[in-house]
Amino acid sequence: MSDLEELESTLDQKAPHSLDPADWNAFRSDAHALLDVCIDHIRGARDRPVWTPMPEEVKKDLSVPLPLDGLPLPEVIETFKRLILTYPTGNTHPRFFGWVHGAGTAAGMLAEMCAASMNANCGGRDHSAIYVERQVIDWCRQIFNFPQTASGILTVGTSMATVIAFAAARARKLGPAMRGKGIQKIKRRLVGYCSEEAHACIRKSFDLLGLGAEQLHQIPADSSYAIRLDALAEQITQDTARGLTPFLLVGSAGTANCGSLDDLDALADIAAKEELWFHIDGAFGAWARIAGKPWSQKVAGIDRADSLAFDFHKWMSVPYDAGCVLIRDHQAHREAFAMRPDYLATGGKALAGGEPWWCDYGVDLSRGFRALKVWFTLLHFGLDNLGTAIADNCLQAERLGRLVEATPDFELLAPVRLNICCFRYRRPGLDEARLDRINSDIVARLQNDGIAAPSTTTIGNRKAIRVAIVNHRTTSEDIDTLLSATIAIGQTF
Ligand SMILES: *Cc1c(COP(=O)(O)O)cnc(C)c1O
Repeated sequence: MSDLEELESTLDQKAPHSLDPADWNAFRSDAHALLDVCIDHIRGARDRPVWTPMPEEVKKDLSVPLPLDGLPLPEVIETFKRLILTYPTGNTHPRFFGWVHGAGTAAGMLAEMCAASMNANCGGRDHSAIYVERQVIDWCRQIFNFPQTASGILTVGTSMATVIAFAAARARKLGPAMRGKGIQKIKRRLVGYCSEEAHACIRKSFDLLGLGAEQLHQIPADSSYAIRLDALAEQITQDTARGLTPFLLVGSAGTANCGSLDDLDALADIAAKEELWFHIDGAFGAWARIAGKPWSQKVAGIDRADSLAFDFHKWMSVPYDAGCVLIRDHQAHREAFAMRPDYLATGGKALAGGEPWWCDYGVDLSRGFRALKVWFTLLHFGLDNLGTAIADNCLQAERLGRLVEATPDFELLAPVRLNICCFRYRRPGLDEARLDRINSDIVARLQNDGIAAPSTTTIGNRKAIRVAIVNHRTTSEDIDTLLSATIAIGQTF
């Protein structure tokens, strides 16, 4: 036998080892039944406890030996339902108020399924998914009033969007040669600015890009938790006098802690005067722009950013994960990332065409079809409906703030600017340490009992119950349930 004959006899040419279902009809009926389970899961979000801790036996059941032989699909589906679907974070529930978690939508779930059926790789080439992402980025440019020449890319979330934005800012400041030489060769010490309330992903990006987390100067905030402009100006002057190179200023459009907003217009003026790259972290708050007045006015100046990072998976209810960055200076963005080997050379023909490729605007080469669920969401609901859901959440937070102020058992700990309300339970005669413990315990009880899931934070040295409303399913009644349960639990301590 020749080598080729031997090879051909080994390779079963009639029945290659495909992973497709052996029986498509059986697959179809399993899949339809599972789709119903998933639809019921979303539809029934309100009917479950907000959160159910995962029992130890369930965690143990999940831990099985490395599967060498496969299981029939129905068995895998049953295991999914029993061990996994039953114990979610709870953020689809209308009384999930912790951190900033988006609620998702039924239409978004469908989009995820459609994207998986196409299994598109969105690093580049010439196919529909690339054009869907371009469409989504173009809509974002219009929403945030960025010029047509601005670039943008979908990301995992705001954290990665921030890394990409800062890499572009760094490339513009230091020039493209820096990418070869490395940041160690740079004599100048680049420094950036944000408020002490700004998100940790900003420091992390400084670290990751080799700029050093300590080169991000965190400026004190004022009584409404916005960056203090006088302190910022003073720090820039001092740094310049010390021979440092200020290059980046970050404004927050909605902080994670209490939803405070920096004066974006004033920061844009400072950035222009000092020739700093102006980045805005608008993870959730950027979307106040589509909520109508007065909310949209609170992010005035957002269209003056050099780069804007925001999420679809929080307030826009797109299923996890989906974030975005818009960058005014298209060239700086591309120069920070384009670097292709021969087998991916630019200017290809046919399927290898479709320039520009997304891989030249971010870290990833292989990229999923994240754009489809954003496209589905925007196209199906429309910006006005999404904006109304966001405005409702702001009104709910404002009402919560008023109720807290009107109830002697509660104390409001930070002004409600958007959709986050930080308050605490209190009773006369309890010292601060005791109050801190009680408020932590109240939150743990609310979560453990499945009633509601706020989170905690610290505001001015006090432990706060933090309620972030980012859920289109939340109603005023849900807020009332939270408050009455909080008082009832508080009184047991
Ligand atoms: C959530 C959040 C981030 C980080 O975004 P991810 O999508 O979680 O990476 C950054 N800034 C703010 C204000 C946030 O709320």
